[in-house]
Amino acid sequence: MTIASQQREENAVARHLIDAGDHYIGPVAAGQTIRIVDVEGNEAADTLFFNAADPSERYSAVDTVREQGKVYLTTGTELRSNLNNVMLTISADTCGRHDTLGGACASESNTVRYDLEKRYMHSCRDNWMLAIANHPEYGITKRDIAHNINFFMNVPVTANGELYFDDGISGPGKYVEMVAEMDVVVLISNCPQLNNPCSGFNPTPLGVLIWD
Ligand SMILES: [Zn+2]
Repeated sequence: MTIASQQREENAVARHLIDAGDHYIGPVAAGQTIRIVDVEGNEAADTLFFNAADPSERYSAVDTVREQGKVYLTTGTELRSNLNNVMLTISADTCGRHDTLGGACASESNTVRYDLEKRYMHSCRDNWMLAIANHPEYGITKRDIAHNINFFMNVPVTANGELYFDDGISGPGKYVEMVAEMDVVVLISNCPQLNNPCSGFNPTPLGVLIWD
């Protein structure tokens, strides 16, 4: 369901631009609101959330899908952890729905899906690994990297239960906004994928804004 935000951009306490193919990691305190913006449209924001106090508690696609009884994420969705706690709630969404089934691109999946020579292409999993290696202060290790949310990505489930990686339903300036229900660390890969339509074959920047 699309609902616009009441937040004013000029009141944001932090704003970041994630360059095409780049990544972002940072804290969001309980009660703060985080907005992710699809600046030019048709981008995919491969996102993970961790409990800031204990990163072994992290976003869980399975718990989120089961508890809401629905596979797509949108306004009102409670993003749940592997301990079934609510980490964040989606409070506004101008895109309409987001994927949490399709997973993230990796050098291994690029090799299997596309070609042996794609192995060395830039991928979301490599972005996450670089982010946690450069920011040991968050205590996130390789084993904490699990299933993710693909904000702005369109992976419809067909009538016979198949997943279909489709062209985006997002557009320039569309955004999704969440209120943190606990202190979290957000880790975003601005998907650099060039082999399927999840970034429109043309990766572009993402925006991040945070309000108190
Ligand atoms: Zn990706």
